Amino acid sequence: MRYAILSDVHGNVESLVQALSRTRSDDVIVCLGDVVGYGPNPNEVVAILRDRARHAVLGNHDLAALEGFGVEHFNEAARAAIQWTQEVLDQPARAWLNLLPYELRFPEFLLVHGAPVAYFEYILDKQDAAAAFDRTDAPIIFVGHTHIAQYWTRDADGAIGHKHMQGGGSLEMHTDRRYIVDVGSVGQPRDLNPQASFVLYEPSLRRIEWLRYDYSIEEVQRKMRAAGLPRYLVDRLSRGR
Ligand code: ZN
Repeated sequence: MRYAILSDVHGNVESLVQALSRTRSDDVIVCLGDVVGYGPNPNEVVAILRDRARHAVLGNHDLAALEGFGVEHFNEAARAAIQWTQEVLDQPARAWLNLLPYELRFPEFLLVHGAPVAYFEYILDKQDAAAAFDRTDAPIIFVGHTHIAQYWTRDADGAIGHKHMQGGGSLEMHTDRRYIVDVGSVGQPRDLNPQASFVLYEPSLRRIEWLRYDYSIEEVQRKMRAAGLPRYLVDRLSRGR
């Protein structure tokens, strides 16, 4: 069995379709939240993931779109995008988002949007990673939220390691280490590579691969302009930050 784990699609249907075209029909599709917000096609993205994703958890932008949760912490552009998303989000999309859990636990791994227990915290440095490892006993923790493709390790004596996966690449996991796997973002990468990111996970090989791939950024930007979404959000897609 192989998993394709995607996060932070943010209403970017062009990139989602490209990501799924790189999966096999028997891959288990997993979504780590922030399905909507920022991008111009929230309903289309929800419709595809409702159909294709076997497992999905809730992101902070999903919750903000549903009930305004946390928008006071958003910057002006993010808030404007959420307001637009709230206006266009249809009833079937709301109903699906409303039922997403904050976490899903499997024997070998945990799925959360940002971090274990504190679901919308960011894991950005070794201290954050150590705290996250302490809050769960899951051997592998899959996260998104930062829009940065990277991973963290903790070995038997507690030492924390870290690596960015800005150009993609793979990881062979050791049984005596734990891992936090940040899958990066399908819809709005922020690690200075505008190529989108998701991971393939093969449990039998203990192997993770980060795929970085192209999609039509110009088409998404054209739609965002037509929808009147903030210029800052349009521009950052081509810069990847
Ligand atoms: Zn996000």
